[in-house]
Amino acid sequence: MFELLQAELGVALRDYVGRETPLYLASRLTDHYKNSKGEGPLIYLKREDLNHGGSHKINNAIAQAMLAKRMHRKTVVAATGAGQHGVATAAACAKLGLDCTILMGNVDMERQSSNVLLMKQLGAQVKPVEGTFKDATSEAIRTWVGDLDNSYYLAGTAVGPHPCPNMVREFQSVIGKETRKQALEKWGGKPDIIVACVGSGSNALGIFHEFLRDEDVRLIGVEAAGNGLESGNHSATLAKGEVGVYHGAMSYLLQDDEGQIIVPHSIGIGLEYPGVSPELSFLKDMGRAEFYTVTDEEALDAYTLLCGLEGIVPALEAAHALAYLGKLCPTLPSGSKVVVNCSGRGDKDVATVLQYNKNKLPN
Ligand SMILES: *Cc1c(COP(=O)(O)O)cnc(C)c1O
Repeated sequence: MFELLQAELGVALRDYVGRETPLYLASRLTDHYKNSKGEGPLIYLKREDLNHGGSHKINNAIAQAMLAKRMHRKTVVAATGAGQHGVATAAACAKLGLDCTILMGNVDMERQSSNVLLMKQLGAQVKPVEGTFKDATSEAIRTWVGDLDNSYYLAGTAVGPHPCPNMVREFQSVIGKETRKQALEKWGGKPDIIVACVGSGSNALGIFHEFLRDEDVRLIGVEAAGNGLESGNHSATLAKGEVGVYHGAMSYLLQDDEGQIIVPHSIGIGLEYPGVSPELSFLKDMGRAEFYTVTDEEALDAYTLLCGLEGIVPALEAAHALAYLGKLCPTLPSGSKVVVNCSGRGDKDVATVLQYNKNKLPN
């Protein structure tokens, strides 16, 4: 049974999702970060933006939808923030003939309206929930628990009750496995550094997991500092959170002195979650991965930079990982190989970024 699932999943990842995704040498971005002597690291992008649906979310959504079908569940329930997981889940359910209900915060539905239309077109029922992603997640879990025989809760990221974090990480680990193989083909070695944005941890763990035991590979997660770490208006859970329990898991958590959740903020809406993967929390504690933050402004500028230099429109979430290159590159030996996980594409964010660039004062 497990082998059958693996075989079916392998075919779907290849012919439906479009894997493997390229490991792309971003040569003009590489040139951009060279110093005056022409030295700098080589920057490669793992092109998860080229997946069906426009992000890494489909790797996990299609696999779990196959599980739901094997478990004879009729309805799939999922929560989405920026809408990428909603689109991926709606597509997977249409392909497999499952009913699909997507819960989404009413605030997010306004901010990412193009994805709401896509989900509906793909046959999903989109139900608004007062609030944002964390509220939609609570409601999705509640809906699932209310009808355990017929419904399946399809977790979109590496948080929530066990075994959700494990399953999601396992299904996303295809990103790192491909990266290892492609690095070997391209330069006969491993990446020196892997950089990924951290919302809740699925794209980061997806590319990190394969390399956890390779101590010579630096793993860097980039969180959203929003309006600034001291503003109180951010999603930097690993930087600023304290250990707590939320949605059935223990991790770092944005909470006040009384244990009440602090509402997270980021321009990358898919990064807005007050908790974070328990596994990433552990990697922070044991020192295996490093974590840094970039602000909304830095991410918005990185978005425009990649558009202009490579003709690639990254998701604002992924732009957080790209934005950290500005600080990272000057510290690296020339010729280091840096792989950035380009977790998704940014069509959904074009209006936000155009507005930001229009309002920006010329300096
Ligand atoms: C959902 C999403 C993220 C954030 O989620 P993680 O679980 O931290 O990966 C990042 N990038 C894109 C494109 C997303 O859709």
